[in-house]
Amino acid sequence: GEVQEHRNQRLEALGQLAGGIAHDFNNMLGVIVNYANFVIEEAEAPEPDLKAIAADARQVIRAGQRGTDLTHQLLKFARREVVRPQVLDLNEVIADTETMLRTSIGEHITLILRPAEQLPPVTCDPGQIEQLLVNLAVNARDAMPAGGNLVIDTACSRLGVDDHPDLAPGDYVRLRISDSGQGMAPEVIERAFEPFFTTKASGEGTGLGLATVYGIVTQAGGSVSLTSEPGLGTTVTILLPAGAPEQDSAEPAPEPVGTAGH
Ligand code: ADP
Repeated sequence: GEVQEHRNQRLEALGQLAGGIAHDFNNMLGVIVNYANFVIEEAEAPEPDLKAIAADARQVIRAGQRGTDLTHQLLKFARREVVRPQVLDLNEVIADTETMLRTSIGEHITLILRPAEQLPPVTCDPGQIEQLLVNLAVNARDAMPAGGNLVIDTACSRLGVDDHPDLAPGDYVRLRISDSGQGMAPEVIERAFEPFFTTKASGEGTGLGLATVYGIVTQAGGSVSLTSEPGLGTTVTILLPAGAPEQDSAEPAPEPVGTAGH
């Protein structure tokens, strides 16, 4: 069923997260062990070069600090604030985030909003939607260093039984974020949602932007996918279930009065 699918997706994300961390930590520990070995070799040489020892010890410290940075990022990622889902109009959240988005992308990029005229509500935490929009806008900005267009549009989408591999049939709100940037190579698309996967210089990318988007969307019962064409641009498509969650009303529905029989 649907619940099982979401749980599997979460486990998959968790597995990728663990794999990414193990890989990064392994690299850092390798650096630390290697340079600590150099320090010992130099210290035990007949005429130890103290400057060389200090230089190698500095490499040990640098790798240790990278490890600390990684742990801090990880804690920030794991310490998800309490999610407070609300019934909301996605168009309104986008409009409320517009100023922040413009500030994030800078003046060389044109932001174009194309909201659907009529949109059913979705049940989401508005703060998370804001975070999702900013993450995607920042990625679009990074893909358009010489400027370009960032288009955000919304639409209603009705899914039939065989329309989507992960989503149950029903009404969804579609949110699309398209840029006219450099696009992604197939091998980047394949790994883009992996936690800690980044093609950006260290210090510029954490590799957690799309993983966070994935987490937010799947938690809300939706799905996220992307299409990209090197040199042309990237489109991220998000589907969120339309409507309010079913209410278990505390009181039974009142008996209709005076309508039975004629
Ligand atoms: P980060 O942005 O910190 O690298 P993300 O998880 O947000 O982490 O993105 C992972 C990678 O996917 C990026 O390093 C980049 O190579 C690629 N990517 C994401 N969004 C876009 C985009 N809009 N255009 C081109 N490449 C993108």
